[in-house]
Parts: sequence; structure tokens; C-alpha cells
Amino acid sequence: MMKLPSNYHPASDALKDKIIVVTGAGDGIGRVAAKTFAAHGATVVLLGRTTAKLEHVYDEIEREGGPQPAIYPINLEGATEKDYRDLSDVLLQEFGVLHGLLHNAGDLGERTPIASYAADTWMRVMHINVNAPFMLTQALLPLMEKAEQGSIVFTSSGVANKGRAFWGAYAASKSAQDNLMQTLADELEGASSMRVNSINPGATRTSMRASAYPAEDPKTLPRPEDHMPLYVYLMSDDAKGITGEIFNAQ
Ligand code: NAP
Repeated sequence: MMKLPSNYHPASDALKDKIIVVTGAGDGIGRVAAKTFAAHGATVVLLGRTTAKLEHVYDEIEREGGPQPAIYPINLEGATEKDYRDLSDVLLQEFGVLHGLLHNAGDLGERTPIASYAADTWMRVMHINVNAPFMLTQALLPLMEKAEQGSIVFTSSGVANKGRAFWGAYAASKSAQDNLMQTLADELEGASSMRVNSINPGATRTSMRASAYPAEDPKTLPRPEDHMPLYVYLMSDDAKGITGEIFNAQ
């Protein structure tokens, strides 16, 4: 497990002229990451399933004076390989290159024992948390290879490393996502300058955390904003040469 180098403070233009796709950009950590990347100079492509939320983030970025973002509504639950290829074509036409990809969208599934875990929920969670990032990465890799310093960041979890009672498909999917990250990083190392890493945000004040722990006081938890130096670091050239690692945000 890695941590952000101590005393790291990203320059205000750390992501200048970079094009970065953020999945699940309408809410929680993804929303704050998209806004933070824009505040550091990036043009962000906001992917998510709820258009109204993406429009809200778009407006926030415009209001804060960031580079004009793009909105791409997509539901990872039903999206097919063709949908991801179409996205790649649109990005190629619009930007010609892609520097960053943050796999942030996630589905919590049920907090239930394996003995009674609904199979359709299991399939959905594995699809959104593992199959979709796989297909999206594969479709966008050629565009990312055009960048001098591409960065792919997956989103891990405390239950990825060791399964825990009642975390079901979510735990299995996060473990699989870390493994996918490591496999891809290993394949690209030496052959490409592209970096592939994971961030485990740890307990964070979002609606996903609130549905997992309804009795918890959210005010006791760090906010997504608190993790942003690490997110910017991994997207920026400051993290040059770092690949195949799982970072703990806390
Ligand atoms: P969140 O507030 O629930 O946000 C999740 C985002 O993913 C939402 O914007 C949601 O869209 C989007 N999403 C979910 N299913 C989708 C689908 N089928 N297609 C497209 N977008 C979809 O959760 P969060 O806490 O910010 O979580 C962000 C990431 O951090 C997740 O990968 C999560 O597993 C991970 N994480 C969170 C914590 C924590 O304590 N919060 C801890 C460890 C890891 P809608 O807004 O439209 O629903």
C-alpha cells in the first residue's frame, strides 16, 4: 500500500491541457474529483447515468472558471462494447487524445450474507464494478496511448484486500478491480509510459457510505475534498513512473 508523498501540494496548473474522463462524475467522490481536475486545468469528460447531476457539475465547473467540460451520459449497467467504442470515436473526434481515466463509478449492492445474496444483484455489481471498467479501458487505450503520460486510476476499497462478512459482490468486485489494475500495469510497464494505479478512498462522506452505514454520523468522516491531492497527484506528471500501486487516501 502506498500513500501520497508527504508535503505534496499540486501546482494550480498541474493538469493543464489534459483531457480526463471521470466515471460516476455526478455525485460523491467523482463529482469532487471532476471539479478538482478542472480547477487544476483539465478538460473533464463527465460520465454518469443521471444527466441532471452531470449538468449540475458542468454548471459548477463553468461557474468556477474551469475549462469547458463535456457531458457523456452512460449507464454502465447496460452499456455494451459498441457503446464504449462510440465514446472512443467521439473523444477522438473532439480531442484527438486522452490523458486520464478515473474509474470511480461503483455499485454497493446488498449488505447480505452470501447464503441469501441475490444472484441478479451479484451479476449487476460485478458488471458495473469490473466488466464495465474492463470494457471502457480496452476501448479507450488506443486514445490514451496518444498521450505522452497517460494515467488510469481504478477505485479500490478496504474490503478488496480481505473479504468481510456481508460485503458480498462489492468486496469481490473491488478485489477483481485491483487485480485488473495490476495485470494491465504489468502489461504496459516498459512497453508504454502509461501509468495504472488504484486509490482506496477509505471511509468517506458520501451517499454510498451513508447507505452502507446508516447509523453513522457523516460529520465524523473525511469529505471527498480531503482526498483530492492524491487524485490530482496520480493524474499529473508528478506521478511519472509510478504504476501498479494501490494508494490509500487515508
Ligand atoms: P456515490 O456518492 O454513490 O457516487 C457513485 C457514483 O457512481 C454516482 O455518481 C453514481 O451515479 C455512479 N454510478 C453508480 N452506478 C452507475 C452506473 N450503473 N452507471 C453510471 N454511473 C453509475 O459513491 P462514492 O462514495 O462517491 O463512491 C465513489 C467510488 O469510491 C466507488 O467506486 C466506491 O466503491 C468507492 N469507495 C467509496 C468509499 C466511501 O466511503 N464513500 C470507500 C471506499 C471506496 P448516480 O449519481 O446517477 O447514482
